[in-house]
Amino acid sequence: PVSDERARPHRSEELFARASAVTPGGVNSPVRAFRAVGGTPRFMTQGDGSHITDADGNRYVDLVASWGPMLLGHAHPEVIAAVQAAVSRGTSYGTPTEPEVELAEEIVARTPVDKVRLVSSGTEATMSALRLARGVTGRAKIIKFAGCYHGHVDALLAQAGSGVVTLGLPGTPGVTAATTADTIVLPYNDPAAVTEAFATYGDQIAAVITEASPGNMGVVPPLDNFNGFLADTCRANGALFISDEVMTGFRITRSGYYGIDGVVPDLMTFGKVMGGGFPAAAFGGRADLMAHLAPEGSVYQAGTLSGNPVATTAGLTTLRLATDEVYAKLDETSLTLQRMVATALEKEGVPYLIQAAGNLFSVFFVDNTTNEATIRDFAGANAQVLPRFAAFFHAMLDAGVYLPPSAYEAWFVSAALDDDALAEIEAALPGAARAAAAV
Ligand code: PMP
Repeated sequence: PVSDERARPHRSEELFARASAVTPGGVNSPVRAFRAVGGTPRFMTQGDGSHITDADGNRYVDLVASWGPMLLGHAHPEVIAAVQAAVSRGTSYGTPTEPEVELAEEIVARTPVDKVRLVSSGTEATMSALRLARGVTGRAKIIKFAGCYHGHVDALLAQAGSGVVTLGLPGTPGVTAATTADTIVLPYNDPAAVTEAFATYGDQIAAVITEASPGNMGVVPPLDNFNGFLADTCRANGALFISDEVMTGFRITRSGYYGIDGVVPDLMTFGKVMGGGFPAAAFGGRADLMAHLAPEGSVYQAGTLSGNPVATTAGLTTLRLATDEVYAKLDETSLTLQRMVATALEKEGVPYLIQAAGNLFSVFFVDNTTNEATIRDFAGANAQVLPRFAAFFHAMLDAGVYLPPSAYEAWFVSAALDDDALAEIEAALPGAARAAAAV
């Protein structure tokens, strides 16, 4: 479909006005609001396979996939059938159930963790993993990296300042300085900064937490075995290495980025794909560490809806359908897409950089003057021409392709993207590249 055949988003505008009257910014998670790109967020009413449909009846090829969870595409018939069967039996008991055991077994079989505790969001997973690390080590400080997002955990919303070791300042009002005083923020992919932080605070550092391969500043993969270096440095200093695979887990390989670099963390966090579109997440790790959690140990952690039978059924069904063939297809689809984007942008002379970690990739609209061949940290990711992304985004949207509405996000492929969906994207790209070139 071309732009002038598409309905004006009147219904979305109406809904957004109503939403804004009763919800801050009209949305329940900030990046949905289109603040970075301008315009009215589209209210979706339906998803089927590779496409989503908005309240005005416009269809879009979906490259957001609910920010990661919808690995198989929308409304996969087998997932829907399993969920419907689960719902018809009842939705929550506040007792243990079989699906949560099966989901935990599936996660343990796919990843290096011995045990997992199920929670309901990635935020809860990282928050709980930090508490466990502090409880086990009896230490207070944690290291995180600038540009890595681990959910809206108070201690992890600390911003980076300049200098090699920056004691965190609150990244948002409402987070107290005391909360972030124990957060050390370092530049990503910078081993020297990590070495220096451990030299200064070594015996006070409970954990280093990192995205296994960052996707929240755009895709910025670890260079030169950075994860292996972090794991070794933690081990040498009695700290724990926490790998956050909420975004990458069960998405880029059957385990996650672990399937690419093989670095075994002490603790891991998961979310998104393992919930199959429902609120389910997890943290896990070595049995001796997980034994510190209540009721086995003394580190408290709990949840009324943790391991919810409907959510765990959706996640389990999704993971069981995510076979090696699915991951091979996702890799192929991702490469095809990357090539299409590159071709379109090159034709219009738009400077760009595509970075990938497995099938997860993002397109950086770099400055003409940037000669860097690789974006390796948050500072590099910030050197983008944001208005160029906004123009590109809106041209794609008008042509029926839904991209993440921010230049700092990964593009998420799904197994439902078939040749027709890819052809739709290919048809949309030249106009979007022209729009970007015109900025
Ligand atoms: N960690 C990572 C790496 C994430 O990408 C996200 C969400 N984008 C989170 C944690 C937080 O997960 P949730 O939004 O489910 O709280």
